[in-house]
Amino acid sequence: MSARTALGTSHFDAVPIPSNLLPSDGRFGSGPARIRSEQLDALMASGRTVLGTSHRQSAVKGVVRRVREGLAQLFDLPGGYEIVLGNGGSTAFWDIAALCLVHERSAHLVLGEFSAKFAVETRSAPHLAEPIVRESAPGSVPTWDDADGSLASADVVAWPHNETSTGVMLPVSRPTHATQSGALVLVDATSAAGGIAVDIDQTDTYYFAPQKCLGSDGGLWVAALSPATIERAAELEARNDRWVPSFLSLTAAIENSQKNQTLNTPAIATLILLAEQVEWILDQGGLAWADERTRTSSGLLHAWADRREDVTCFVTDPAARSQVVTTLDLAPHVDAAALAARLRREGILDIEPYRKLGRNQLRIATFPSVPPSDVEALVSVLDHVLDSAAA
Ligand SMILES: *Cc1c(COP(=O)(O)O)cnc(C)c1O
Repeated sequence: MSARTALGTSHFDAVPIPSNLLPSDGRFGSGPARIRSEQLDALMASGRTVLGTSHRQSAVKGVVRRVREGLAQLFDLPGGYEIVLGNGGSTAFWDIAALCLVHERSAHLVLGEFSAKFAVETRSAPHLAEPIVRESAPGSVPTWDDADGSLASADVVAWPHNETSTGVMLPVSRPTHATQSGALVLVDATSAAGGIAVDIDQTDTYYFAPQKCLGSDGGLWVAALSPATIERAAELEARNDRWVPSFLSLTAAIENSQKNQTLNTPAIATLILLAEQVEWILDQGGLAWADERTRTSSGLLHAWADRREDVTCFVTDPAARSQVVTTLDLAPHVDAAALAARLRREGILDIEPYRKLGRNQLRIATFPSVPPSDVEALVSVLDHVLDSAAA
């Protein structure tokens, strides 16, 4: 076998994959992500009494209450913090934050597609000053460099807990400059919430959507808000110096959430799936359990990359490697897209890299719904296909 033989579609397609190697479930996507069968069974069971009924009545409000109380428990919510939710996903929350939380200027760590998108919103907002952006190359972590002394002028600082496009995980701790200036700390936890341990105290706004670790469908945003966040929204919205559309009003979302409802009609099925997942994680042992499980699963993939000369972790700093989204570069002679396509035919789905990253890569989510045994099975399938194709 020569390591230099180019391996592509024709080689991979010629390899039969024994069905006993396959994982119990082939969904390894980074979002929308695997939804457990037990959640779908619960959805069917609630179907006749909750789906298709008024979101202003107690049955649906009861589901929203389960979500809010369950998340409060999962995050060990500090006193005064509130779980708030609304329609529109994390993307809507960027606009809500640009309108209701940034007073004049925000500062962002940008290290990939998702962190870049929030900075694009604050840059385009006509009522805000040019945002401060500290950027690093995909796969690495930028720092809050303050050589120009500008950070003191930011009243919001923002970064992602997990940059899903590159598989980079960042620490969640309140930067000194934010404490000194009183800036609100906004953390995009869309692909982290429910899968990575966090100290909510270190944030003012920990926001996410439920279609990743929380194994639900898309379309909803959820946030743990500090008293300072709630106060900032009330203050900025009362000033009337900018138009805040009702749909993007954080105070309206807070008021509705306190009544266990949303401003406008939510997808009730999404809420049921979310409530089921939060309670499942709590039953297994809470966030500490989920954190341990995702570390185990991602560790299997990192160890696999160490073992093979044709696979390398894209994120070079081990401390920055995500425990929920693993990005693995393949050697140039192995066509990653062809390999992902071969596995797709066996029902192993969505291990292609983030499309705009444009690398010869596999991206594999190890969210809590994916058992480590399925990651082990995926590794054995990958070994089998790579080794048989090269033989
Ligand atoms: C998926 C994702 C988003 C976008 O979420 P939507 O609900 O589709 O708006 C934002 N940020 C991060 C870190 C993500 O992983």
